Amino acid sequence: MNAEIIAVGTEILTGQIVNTNAQFISEKMAEIGVDVYYQTAIGDNEKRLLDVIEMASRRSDLIILTGGLGPTEDDLTKQTLARFLGKTLVFDQQAKDKLDQFFASRPKSSRTSNNERQAQIIEGSIPIQNITGLAVGGLLVDGEKTYVVLPGPPSELKPMVTKHLVPLLSKGNEILYSKVLRFFGIGESQLVTVLSEYIKNQTDPTIAPYAKTGEVTLRLSTKSNSEQEANEKLDALEKELLSVRSLDKTPLSEYLYGYGEDNSLAKVVFENILNRKLTISAAESLTAGMFQAKIADFSGSSQLFKGGYVTYSIEEKARMLGIPLVDLQKHGVVSHFTAQQMALKSRQLMQSDIGVGLTGVAGPGELEGHPAGTVYIGISTTEKTESIQVSIGGRSRSDIRYIAMMHAFNLVRKTLL
Ligand code: ATP
Repeated sequence: MNAEIIAVGTEILTGQIVNTNAQFISEKMAEIGVDVYYQTAIGDNEKRLLDVIEMASRRSDLIILTGGLGPTEDDLTKQTLARFLGKTLVFDQQAKDKLDQFFASRPKSSRTSNNERQAQIIEGSIPIQNITGLAVGGLLVDGEKTYVVLPGPPSELKPMVTKHLVPLLSKGNEILYSKVLRFFGIGESQLVTVLSEYIKNQTDPTIAPYAKTGEVTLRLSTKSNSEQEANEKLDALEKELLSVRSLDKTPLSEYLYGYGEDNSLAKVVFENILNRKLTISAAESLTAGMFQAKIADFSGSSQLFKGGYVTYSIEEKARMLGIPLVDLQKHGVVSHFTAQQMALKSRQLMQSDIGVGLTGVAGPGELEGHPAGTVYIGISTTEKTESIQVSIGGRSRSDIRYIAMMHAFNLVRKTLL
């Protein structure tokens, strides 16, 4: 089944609102295997709306209209679609009861004919009840075509789509199953290069790489009637891809840190520390508290985050952490020594199981002869204190600081493995 989304509202065309409804509906349709071929935005104008509906009915099986179900004069989606189909509007009893209750509880509000229309559906439609608003939606099968009308406010539309429309449409349909693999430490271009044969020859499942600051994801997708069959296909492809080697011959499995759309390196590390009942602290220079703030983003952080330091100047590295100033001067603040000492002292002073030290050059200028992006990260546990050096070249100051923080989480992840 192919679909088309028509978002009705002049505010979309004038740029006052972003058409997030189309994005949301497209995403949900993809999940149930409905291919969205067109998205249109149209103003509150009956003639143009009729033209767009007419065109959509020629080229699409499923036409989803959003917006224009409200009580004002310019809300004309339902009546325009009814006119196009040569049908009338009839009351939906459940929506009418809701409207009656609404006005009974507000005796001073005046009830207009436009309000009545909010409780109406096109004759022959299956009503789609609106839990968070008054305007009822509807799904109408007319010959080979299916028409859906939904209100504009996302708070009303979203539950109507997920709770009612998706179940109505997914009956007997193949569903799109996806698995998202998340990598850190390898760039998108290298990942795409080493997987080029797989990407070029992809049919089912499909492979879609996507890069975000400091990390890359691969989305593997397949359409199927059964979740088990889909998972078998996705797992088999994942196994093959993870055995491919990067340009320096490291298997891709070593860069994989987790799965899923709503995941992050920080989250994976956070959950790992929490599950093991460990505690963490940090002393930060170039990231100035970002690492610690990230930990505090997650609920439950008080169970594992002891506290820490922002030691930006050399004097504060000496004063707050008790690292001898002469040693800092001798090794330099951008050094393995300083990163290790920051990790060690923060762990000792905060009495945590893990201590992290971050020092480096955020740029754009050099520091102690090191170019921007030179970062040293120390980690200290009761067993050992060590450090890594990473070069985050060619990036903006904010990217360098952000990626340095991600390297710190990755170092904790690897140490806990
Ligand atoms: P209402 O009862 O609020 O009038 P409606 O169904 O008539 O609802 P519109 O009047 O078209 O919907 O839009 C109401 C509000 O919903 C808009 O001001 C906007 O905030 C939001 N909205 C409408 N269409 C979209 C869209 N396509 N994407 C995101 N938000 C939208």
